[in-house]
Amino acid sequence: MHFELTPEQVAVQARARAFAVEEVAPLAREADEKGKFPMQLVRRMGELGFLGGPIGAEYGGTGLDYLSCALVYEELGRADSSVRGFLAVHEGLVSLCIRDWGSESQKRRYLPRLASGEWIGCYCLTEPNAGSDAASIETTAREEEDCYILNGEKIWITNGNIADVALVFASRDRSARHKGICAFIIETSTPGFFREKVAGVELGHRASDHARVVFEECRVPKNALLGEPGDGFKVAMAALDHGRIGVAAGAVGVAQACLDACVAFARQRRQFGKRIGDFQMIQASIADMAADVEAARLLVYRAAWLKQQGLPSTRETSIAKLFATEIAVKAASDAVLIHGGRGYSNAYPVERYYRDIKGLQIYEGTSHIQRIVIARDVIGKE
Ligand SMILES: Cc1cc2nc3c(=O)[nH]c(=O)nc-3n(C[C@H](O)[C@H](O)[C@H](O)COP(=O)(O)OP(=O)(O)OC[C@H]3O[C@@H](n4cnc5c(N)ncnc54)[C@H](O)[C@@H]3O)c2cc1C
Repeated sequence: MHFELTPEQVAVQARARAFAVEEVAPLAREADEKGKFPMQLVRRMGELGFLGGPIGAEYGGTGLDYLSCALVYEELGRADSSVRGFLAVHEGLVSLCIRDWGSESQKRRYLPRLASGEWIGCYCLTEPNAGSDAASIETTAREEEDCYILNGEKIWITNGNIADVALVFASRDRSARHKGICAFIIETSTPGFFREKVAGVELGHRASDHARVVFEECRVPKNALLGEPGDGFKVAMAALDHGRIGVAAGAVGVAQACLDACVAFARQRRQFGKRIGDFQMIQASIADMAADVEAARLLVYRAAWLKQQGLPSTRETSIAKLFATEIAVKAASDAVLIHGGRGYSNAYPVERYYRDIKGLQIYEGTSHIQRIVIARDVIGKE
């Protein structure tokens, strides 16, 4: 068992860290306040090879291994969950599905544009009446001789208003439940594709773009189908297997950022004539945070390594996502407490970490759903 990163992985980590510290973190507070995604970072991520991480060079990608990609997500998560979330959807959910399920002409048309940042991708699964129970989606795909016609509504679509291409799930036969679902690659300029900002003000990820997408007699050619008719549910679940590692790694980044902030604060803040880091209760809190971060990181690295070997990794990915997001929620909560009144203001970044981290516990399968995936595998079916 080797715990060291390879020289190539160390180099990717250093590149991602420099980008996160020098270019992402300085924009994070303003982007959060304005609720506006820093679009200039998209092309930069393309130039740095992060948008097409695991995509092969023949399709404009960088050919990174999955552990290197996890390192990128971790470093971005440490700086800004909105930017990390952009990448997890664009690359983890969209590009990788096109790579795994697409025809040669789909790969040639979409992957290079997504890898450079010329085009942005979004993933449209969730609906008002279908969240955790994705097999019950109500968006329909009516088959005609030369096309499919989509009707329905999607919500909470990250990148939805800025995307050029959408991976959309719709049912051609709702009575067949998951077997009736088809996946489509739809260019967002297609007539009948409407989008707007999702209703309300979000708790966190305020710089992320979240859309409500509506399909009204949206006509797409037959070659927009990704995979075979009826493969859609498998495509959606395979996407989540990729995406969940990105979320888990991002959660490790948030927890690490909380730890870094708490250590710096505990060394400098003085009360009762001492550094607060000299009080045992603060020490215990920081020690637990450090232990949790290390454990979560190892779970994420193991899941990424298994995936790279082509070994089964669904259970390990769910374990990593569950554990990393739960400990990061606790780390963020403790970080606000350790900062006292200062932690309650956005003058200190722990306030944003506390709001952002809740989203990671919800999307790409809530913590309840991760427990279902894990228990199903651990206990087995009758
Ligand atoms: C910031 C953000 C970004 C998102 N981005 C995207 C995106 O890009 N694309 C996309 O398609 N979706 C996206 N989503 C949607 C997200 O995936 C869903 O919110 C999530 O899957 C939960 O679905 P729901 O909100 O309908 O909750 P529900 O499924 O209604 O769940 C409500 C509660 O019930 C629990 N629950 C449900 N079923 C069970 C069960 N069987 N056992 C125990 N408990 C259960 C849930 O865990 C939860 O606590 C995003 C959401 C957020 C918050």
